[in-house]
Amino acid sequence: MKKILVVGSLNVDLVVCTPALPREGQTILGRSFDKFPGGKGANQSVALARLGAHVTHIGKVGLDDHARLLRKSLEEAGVRLNGLLEDSSVQTGVAFIQLADEGANTIVVIPGANMRLLPSDLDPFIPFLRQADFIAIQNEIPLETNLKAARIGREGGATVLYNPAPYREGSDQICPLAHLIIPNEIELSELTGLPVTTDEQIESAAGKLLEKGGAEAVIVTLGARGSMVKERKGSTFFPAVKVKAVDTTAAGDAFIAGMIWSLSEGKTLIDSVRVANQVAAYAVTILGAQPSLPTREQFERFSAQLKK
Ligand code: ADP
Repeated sequence: MKKILVVGSLNVDLVVCTPALPREGQTILGRSFDKFPGGKGANQSVALARLGAHVTHIGKVGLDDHARLLRKSLEEAGVRLNGLLEDSSVQTGVAFIQLADEGANTIVVIPGANMRLLPSDLDPFIPFLRQADFIAIQNEIPLETNLKAARIGREGGATVLYNPAPYREGSDQICPLAHLIIPNEIELSELTGLPVTTDEQIESAAGKLLEKGGAEAVIVTLGARGSMVKERKGSTFFPAVKVKAVDTTAAGDAFIAGMIWSLSEGKTLIDSVRVANQVAAYAVTILGAQPSLPTREQFERFSAQLKK
């Protein structure tokens, strides 16, 4: 079985569902409040493990109730946690999410322990980085840690997948180390400084990113419109699967996990993008980040129904 390493964030999502987003200074009555395990890195690890992949997570949490909630979710999914570090001097990361009925949302992330995952923390795991077949990184931990993970992984022969989310300065230093760069359209625009209003502009911005360095492909996620793959030989658009969207939190993470899982099973890039679109579509039909990620069985049932 291929070995997958996710180096990335863990956050507890504090989710308020509300009829509408309050205006500045306004107080309104919301509908519900829930705590869900989340964070881009942890979501990708959980999704991969539920799909049946062999995945190890490297990340950092505090020593608090939120850390326990996250550990439990990752453990239950089957993620290997020998790389989950604890730091009693800092809080576990949290994300404050407001979800309005019509789909609009606002999110404030307090990174906490995630930003304390330092390059030196990777030292005991260098053999893991060298032996990994796939390494997934995002932008919710320090840039220098990502750079070190990507560099060692690439040297060791891993396929490095980089999700530059949320966009941060310095992301362009990581791009040349990645085999696959997977931004959404906003991150693509931020990475390239180019507009992405039309399909032609998206293709052209993705092309510019591809020209910059080591990547084999840039895969742009386009929300309810699906995704686009840009390779040197050309580009292909893949429409999204039609579903009733309830909560798009973790859609991008589900997409990336679907992609890596499928690639790790020996499928082509194009077939893997189709799988990724389906895993992500499943995730948008359920409230919450990690609660919305399918097991292999749930995914296969969902996928079979789409073919009918
Ligand atoms: P992010 O959450 O990282 O911004 P996107 O919003 O682009 O990512 O969504 C990632 C993927 O999730 C899309 O490429 C698509 O496959 C799927 N997706 C997102 N929203 C929907 C939707 N409303 N219906 C079906 N699939 C969706």
